[in-house]
Amino acid sequence: MKTRVIKVDRDRPDPAAIEEAAAALRDGKLVAFPTETVYGLGAHALDTDAVQKIFDAKERPANDPLIVHIAHIGQVNQCAVGMPAGARKLGLSFWAGPLTLVLQKKPEVPDLVTAGLPSVALRVPSHRVARALMETAGIPIAAPSANRFSRPSPTTAAHVIADLDGRVGLILDGGPTDIGLESTIVDFTADPPVLRRPGGITFEQVHSLVPEVVVQTVQGSDDQPQPAPGQMGRHYAPRAELTLYEGPAAAVVPRVAADVRTAAAGGDRVGILAPEEDLSAIAPEIAGRASAGRIETSPYGSRGDLDRSARELYASIRALDATGVAKIFAIGVGSDGLARAIHDRLMRAADGRVKTIGYE
Ligand code: AMP
Ligand code: MG
Repeated sequence: MKTRVIKVDRDRPDPAAIEEAAAALRDGKLVAFPTETVYGLGAHALDTDAVQKIFDAKERPANDPLIVHIAHIGQVNQCAVGMPAGARKLGLSFWAGPLTLVLQKKPEVPDLVTAGLPSVALRVPSHRVARALMETAGIPIAAPSANRFSRPSPTTAAHVIADLDGRVGLILDGGPTDIGLESTIVDFTADPPVLRRPGGITFEQVHSLVPEVVVQTVQGSDDQPQPAPGQMGRHYAPRAELTLYEGPAAAVVPRVAADVRTAAAGGDRVGILAPEEDLSAIAPEIAGRASAGRIETSPYGSRGDLDRSARELYASIRALDATGVAKIFAIGVGSDGLARAIHDRLMRAADGRVKTIGYE
């Protein structure tokens, strides 16, 4: 299959391009498109053959359910049986936006979409291109992130091409995505409701409207039971072995610098993934060493601008991976507000290799 990329204006997408993509979706074909979170790989959600193509293209295991994208809250009843009061509150407040609600599914939604679960995950994206596509197609669109399974999610069309060239017919290129991390998932089929994945809508925002919500995220180790399909720890992994360091900058920076020097001296090519001010602080500690040629660095935003950290995280991980380093030393930014989502993705990428550093 030849992959075609059509550039579209993110605010005023060309109606001809949208019509072509919508027709392909209605026809059971795959289309990759930008959303405000990450790029999605879309298919007609009520067409089992079309949905199967998503699993094939991504090499995604069938026990990992897909999120179904709809144009507005009024379409919930096409896929789900009712909305509990808390879910309605969240939908009315945060849709269109980076929030996914898990609800009781209708029989019309194929089992393939929900991995056989009696629930379905629904989201109304706010990105103009995604909205135009759904309004024009007039169908619910199942769309996981447009990456190969277990690779970091794509935040640019180039990332989609890197993973799916020849596996998807059409990619709408609307430039880099705004949020850069996948949506927040709140499961209302559990009682009390469970935050299954932190994302662009923070736990604090959800909690303010649904005080009974509880948090359940996987801490990245393989020996824990999986709370739900698709929650496997090793999900956002780079090819390199990533270790996550958490703690105040003043304590973490010297520790990472020391560990990087040791690894590089041992002959490993290593990378450092860190907020830009932490990288600046490390630079003098690794400069001028014989090992310096074996050390790559990649910034992701800043401790003072977590929106940018989220937006840049996956591109930064991909950039380091592309240099062929064997090990990545990653510095985290805490776990409050939006940092909870960043921490969650780094924990998964670290696959259990986490060091919490305090002041000596
Ligand atoms: P993504 O790959 O970013 O599209 O995210 C899909 C994820 O949504 C899955 O891996 C699950 O974690 C979650 N999900 C989808 N459907 C359900 C569901 N019915 N119940 C619980 N989680 C779900
Ligand atoms: Mg994904």
